[in-house]
Order: sequence, then C-alpha cells, then structure tokens
Amino acid sequence: MTASTPKSLDDALAELLAYAAALPDVDTVSTFDADGRVLAADLRSELQVPPLDNSAMDGYAMRCADAAVDGAVLPVSQRIAAGSTGTPLASGTAARIFTGAPVPDGADAVVMQEDCELLDDGRIRVRRAPTPGLAIRRAGEDIAHGAVVLARGTRLSPAALGLAASIGSAELPVARRPRVALFSTGDELVMPGTVAPAQMRPGAIYNSNRYFLRSLLQRQGCEVQDLGVVPDQREATIAALREASARNDVILTSGGVSVGEEDHVKPAVQALGRLDLWQIAIKPGKPFAYGSLDGGRGACHFIGLPGNPVSSLVTFIVLVRPFLLKLQGASTLQPHVLNLPAHFDWPRADRRREFLRARRNERGGLDLFPNQGSGVLTSTVWGDGLVDTGPGQTIAQGDTVRFLPFAELFA
Ligand code: AMP
Ligand code: MG
Repeated sequence: MTASTPKSLDDALAELLAYAAALPDVDTVSTFDADGRVLAADLRSELQVPPLDNSAMDGYAMRCADAAVDGAVLPVSQRIAAGSTGTPLASGTAARIFTGAPVPDGADAVVMQEDCELLDDGRIRVRRAPTPGLAIRRAGEDIAHGAVVLARGTRLSPAALGLAASIGSAELPVARRPRVALFSTGDELVMPGTVAPAQMRPGAIYNSNRYFLRSLLQRQGCEVQDLGVVPDQREATIAALREASARNDVILTSGGVSVGEEDHVKPAVQALGRLDLWQIAIKPGKPFAYGSLDGGRGACHFIGLPGNPVSSLVTFIVLVRPFLLKLQGASTLQPHVLNLPAHFDWPRADRRREFLRARRNERGGLDLFPNQGSGVLTSTVWGDGLVDTGPGQTIAQGDTVRFLPFAELFA
C-alpha cells in the first residue's frame, strides 16, 4: 500500500482510465431493450431514408411548368395516399397527395392544400405559382445508402433507438453490462427499515450511499450485485471479496479509505491482490482507492470511494462514471460543460479543485447551495449540477464558471 502525495483529478482520471480496458463481450439485444447501452459496432444503413421523394404536406403534386402563373387551374388526375405509389403524372394535371406519399414521376413540386382552391368542377386553382422542389422531401436527404447512422461507442438514447428502427434494425450489438459488486463499510451504518428513526442508537447513521451508488451504477448500464454492509471480520471480508471478484468486473465500496483509518477492507483487498490509496486534490472527495484482485478469471477492479455521502457521489461522478463508460467502450466519457454566469460569490478558495453544488435559475445564471459540507446530501438534491472550480480560484458575481449538469451525469 502506498499513501501517495496528492494527485490532480486529471492525473488520477488518466491513471484510472488506463486500467479500464473495454470489455470484449458483445450482447445482441432487441432495439426495444437497448436504451442506455453502448453500441459495439458501427450501424450502417442498408437503405436510403426517405426511400423515395415524398410529400412534406397534404396538398397537390404538379409540374411547376403547368402552374407557371399565379391562379393556374389544373384537373386532378389521381390520388396518392401514404403507403401507396401513384402513376407518372399526366402533363397538365395535378395529383392529390398526402404527407409522406411518394411524389409521382413527372411532378416537381407539392403545393399545400391551404394554397389551393378546390373548384366546384373538381379542378384546383393554384393560388401562387410553385418553385421546383417545393414541399418535397428528397430521397436519401436524411440518410444515404451505406451511411453510418450510429457510430460504435455511442450511448444509445431513445432518439437513437428510433433512428436504428428507421433503418430496419430490430436488434443491436451492444457492450456487455459491466458486473459490479457493491459494498458499504462502516459499523455505524444502519439500513433504513431495520431501525426506526426514533430508535437509532447514538452514533448510528442510515446507509444512504448504498442507495445512490446502486442507482448510479444501474444508470451507467451496470449489473449490480449488492452485497450490503461488509461484516467487520477479516476472514468474512476476504471470503466476500473473493466470491465477488470471481463473478464481477468491478468491486465498488464506500467508506474506509481515509488515511490511517482502521478498516478491514484494505487488508482484505491486499490479501487477494493489490491496493493503492490515492489522495486526490479535489473537494469534496479527497481519499480514493484503486486496486485489483485476482478473480480467478482475470483481474477484478477494486474501487474504494470515500464515505462522506457528497464525497462519494462526486468521486463517483468524476472518476467512476468515466471508468464504467470506458469499460463499455463508450466514445464520450466526459459530460458537456456549460459555461454559465455565477450569481453568487465564492471568496474562499481552496487549494484543491472544488465541485460546488449549484442550480440554474430562470435568469440563466447559477445559484449556490449555502452549505457545501461533504456530508450534506440536501445540496445534491437542491442543486442540479456541479460548479467545477479550479484550485485557488475565487468566484465573484457575474464570473463565467464551468457547470456540469446532473441531468447528464446521472443519465
Ligand atoms: P469514512 O470514509 O468511512 O471515514 O466515512 C466518512 C463519513 O461518511 C463518516 O461520517 C461515515 O459515517 C459516513 N459514511 C460512510 N459510509 C456511509 C454510507 N454508506 N452512508 C452514509 N454515510 C456514510
Ligand atoms: Mg468508515
């Protein structure tokens, strides 16, 4: 074990990501079930979209040459509904056409019905002369034949599932879900539901980390084996870790990684593999542990997060989330940073890089939660993201700051 000198977050992340080799296994899943999964191969279109020139409007298809002056009158020679194809357009006539229906050969414009007057004799008057291409969606204008519509490494959103379906993909190759075992450590922890709030013994606290970590892991596409609170005995801990490492890619724990703390997880991990304790120059979050255990079928990663709930949440977001995405071969590991004006002052800079809980206000700026303590989970619910503040950086009202929205970090 090495209690190292503090690392910058960027260095720590680079080092951690270097350990995260993409899982080689690919699952083929129904497109219905692929939400949030990472695409394992480029998805190419075997057709063009739209397949044919088609109408963008309910109206009349015609040749511009036949309606070259405003108020031209044309007979209606055919009717083309979506799902049917018409016949080549007889010259000097219009075709009644509906949205999405293929534009008949010969027609070069569609005039929407609101711009046509239906005469008593069944002919139409075209109020304004159309220009070629009017209200026609061109074949292939969305997707060309052979185009990559979704690149390998894309994390699939509901919109991406629709796009995949639009080119006929009923199934998609996706990275296997990382299997993650989750442990909490700490003899003070009590599971909600086992002891009523009024009966809590002094010093006891409810285990909150287990709830948000399990949920965050699931949202990052992981299959979670939740092992609860590790018993406070060396042999039992070693046995639990050994079993977890045999069937998981990652073991994630919270608590017990502070320097010098007496804790049973550290020696147990070391008995089965190796463990490095990192001091990361961020606030909240400083202590962090990375190790690896021999799971019998290759190494199992060990990641130990700090116990303070906000520290645990923030270190998950800035370190574990990109790690898990990299295991799945995702091409984007970092959230999009928004540059927004601070509507608060932050006069007391810390030597460490700080992640402050803030939320956007209706004036497009950021308000700060008043209590930035690392145990104050309220801040993470009140806030809708983190202000990323550099070491030694103070903030004055109106300064532009970097903001990481929870909406993306939790997605
Ligand atoms: P540790 O990192 O184990 O020293 O814990 C730091 C602080 O976080 C202590 O006040 C712990 O009681 C608290 N803590 C540790 N684990 C949890 C947890 N699972 N849920 C809530 N608080 C925790
Ligand atoms: Mg502890």
